[in-house]
Amino acid sequence: MTEAAIRIEGLRKTYRGGRGQPEKHALKGIDLTVPRGSVFGLLGPNGAGKSTLINILAGLVVKSAGTVEIWGFDQDQSPRPSRAAIGVMPQELNLDPFFTPRGALEVQAGLYGVPKAERRSGEILELVGLSDKAEAYARTLSGGMRRRLLLAKALVHHPKVLVLDEPTAGVDIELRQMLWANVRRLNEQGMTIILTTHYLEEAQEMCDEIAIINQGELVAQDSTANLLGRLDSRTMVITPDAEVAALPQAEGVQAQLRPDGTLVLQYHGHQTSAEQVLEAVRQANIRIRDVRTEEADLEDVFLALTASRAEDPPADDHDRPRRGMHRVKL
Ligand code: ADP
Ligand code: MG
Repeated sequence: MTEAAIRIEGLRKTYRGGRGQPEKHALKGIDLTVPRGSVFGLLGPNGAGKSTLINILAGLVVKSAGTVEIWGFDQDQSPRPSRAAIGVMPQELNLDPFFTPRGALEVQAGLYGVPKAERRSGEILELVGLSDKAEAYARTLSGGMRRRLLLAKALVHHPKVLVLDEPTAGVDIELRQMLWANVRRLNEQGMTIILTTHYLEEAQEMCDEIAIINQGELVAQDSTANLLGRLDSRTMVITPDAEVAALPQAEGVQAQLRPDGTLVLQYHGHQTSAEQVLEAVRQANIRIRDVRTEEADLEDVFLALTASRAEDPPADDHDRPRRGMHRVKL
């Protein structure tokens, strides 16, 4: 038994190409461990392989190679307990239009073998704010209500791990707040949460740990704090009083003059203080008219890890050597 909520090793997925299409290496050997009790963010640009990974966890997509363990149960050797440990809210709105929310939950509970006495359909509908729609047909529900129902369905068998694939893509603010409030509450009650999101701010705020995947490869996994901390590059932008004759020199500080005459100083927050940077500026006889600073956020980390590859030709990229954390500019 492992203490991980999810442990993935050497996970590969190759989609067969149809009608003259080449095959697609959607996952190229992913190793990933999700700690129990965490809110874990899986980030990556469109087409990175996030849904493929999540759908493999959910048992909706068959992997090509590798091992997947859910709550200590190997997906192939112990399919039932591994499946029982996870609930997935998929990205697609795939609901049977002829079921009411209560009906859909009962069917789902039946699929997972939840005994009648242990079913909590009413409670779950209450949690996602669908009580007053319990008996309405799914086809009459709005997009937002359907999403709530998908969340409710993922919860019927009381999974240890809840997976949400882009739960807030294109939803209104109210629903987003409801989703995040639920995620927080469920996590406080001990549920491990894995989510993918396009909103980096959201990931920064919600997630304890983050993995970034790009073109089917894992390019980073760390705590959110470390990921941000590691890229603690600071930028100080100074508007000098007069034209700069000589650039400031100091260890750990990179100085650069922009065409508009502003002076850009880059340094690492854990190495160098702002005061040391300013001292170097004074030593270079530069008088400061204005100064401002910029701090890295998750978006910078994300861009540093994924931007250069996005321009790479996709055709033969799976033959390229793997690149890892060193791609973050430290
Ligand atoms: P993400 O969720 O990160 O946007 P996906 O996992 O949906 O990425 O897709 C990863 C890659 O696999 C994409 O290039 C996508 O076009 C391809 N892909 C996804 N599903 C299929 C499929 N059923 N058949 C063929 N290719 C697929
Ligand atoms: Mg997706």
